[in-house]
Amino acid sequence: MTADDTLHSRIQDARRRFERAGIEPVEAAIDADVLARHALGGWERGQLLAGLRDACPPGFAEGFDPLVRRREHREPTGYITGHREFWNIEIEVGPGVLIPRPETELLVEEVLARLSASESAAARAAANLQPVLSERRVKSRAEGPRLRIADVGTGSGCLAVALARWLPGAHIVATDMSDAALRMARRNAARHEVGDRVLVLQGNLLQSTDGLFDVIVSNPPYVPAGDLASLQPEIREFEPVGALDGGQDGLDVIRLLVPEAAERLVPGGWLMFEFGFGQSEGVRAIIANEPRLDLVDVRADLAGIPRVAVARRRAPDPESRVPSPEPRNPDLMSCLFCRIIAGEVPAKTIYEDDVLVAFHDINPQAPVHVLVVPRRHIPTLNDLGPEDDPLIGTMLRRAATLAHELGIGARGYRTVFNCNREAGQTVYHIHLHVLGGRPMRWPPG
Ligand code: 5GP
Ligand code: ZN
Repeated sequence: MTADDTLHSRIQDARRRFERAGIEPVEAAIDADVLARHALGGWERGQLLAGLRDACPPGFAEGFDPLVRRREHREPTGYITGHREFWNIEIEVGPGVLIPRPETELLVEEVLARLSASESAAARAAANLQPVLSERRVKSRAEGPRLRIADVGTGSGCLAVALARWLPGAHIVATDMSDAALRMARRNAARHEVGDRVLVLQGNLLQSTDGLFDVIVSNPPYVPAGDLASLQPEIREFEPVGALDGGQDGLDVIRLLVPEAAERLVPGGWLMFEFGFGQSEGVRAIIANEPRLDLVDVRADLAGIPRVAVARRRAPDPESRVPSPEPRNPDLMSCLFCRIIAGEVPAKTIYEDDVLVAFHDINPQAPVHVLVVPRRHIPTLNDLGPEDDPLIGTMLRRAATLAHELGIGARGYRTVFNCNREAGQTVYHIHLHVLGGRPMRWPPG
């Protein structure tokens, strides 16, 4: 065996070629390693280290050389291998989809930190900070408080998937405009077994989503248009311009995102997003301009560059707040249902009159799942007075009529009032669930 035939010599050779192609030495070394392990069929780093002085396995050069050539032409390593590590999980990537960056992991870190320190029961329950083990599929927790997260411009789905894996109680809506991104985000959610809690929707910002969120995250396009041409070739020539181009000063998308997120957060809810080098003053100004949000923090990356904005939705003014005897769950006490009734939050309404509104549940627990909601704000069943007896009668009779209209009346359906947290109430405005379209078991759900 000559020295030329060892893995080590081949990898060294690739490394020198990468450096000659203009790749930074540290990156050249890492990439040569990663591509060699890929050519070897997915060897672990330790396995490669142990085998470096051995002769190349048969066929190695034939597999490795084309990969080296692609990298020499400055194709990003992620596209060559088809995946990229993000927050300890393997994210599939490909043409048309931005490759996850280490900076974006700061967003995951920040969401987990804010939620675990939160006073909200829903957030704490969701954030028990147990990674979801792939062998042990965690069923969605219909019975517990549900944390709603939106990931705007999800791309590969890296943020949505990482958050879903770490927050077994969270439901995540991930949006993107690009078909390639939507396909990839769905694949990544399925691959990591969180497809039942990550809903991937096509749309601009939050326009295709509905309801309020506890957390909104985003890694928006933020490169100033004039800088696109001077980006390194890996990005300029290979990555999707739609995921990069942030308009003249790079802040166009952030300018739209901030007010839209303010509109769609529960009081106390979090908006966290990434931005680029030199943009922190601009970002501060945009958030300062939004009266419903407070800038809580700006996080810097490992190089000390400010990168992530952390903003929080203010509580409404005391005068405008709907009175409630005992706020149990401050982060979720926005009275979502009052807002739906007022038409401020969209919902699929199927019936309304002077007393009641009925609409489809956003997270249906059965093929038919309608909520019958009184117009008057009454937080829980415990807050009913004797004057409300007719109201409860009206709600039940309306449920029966709707069940028949929805085609579930004859075969059977269930009506449920949840009262208080331990019974699963997460929206503190009384409502009757009408569930049907399949045989019902106890406990409800
Ligand atoms: P609870 O858990 O309080 O008994 O029921 C509240 C219900 O409201 C849940 O089933 C939940 O899925 C539903 N819900 C939460 N947010 C929204 C929303 O934005 N729109 C609609 N239509 N339903 C929602
Ligand atoms: Zn209400």
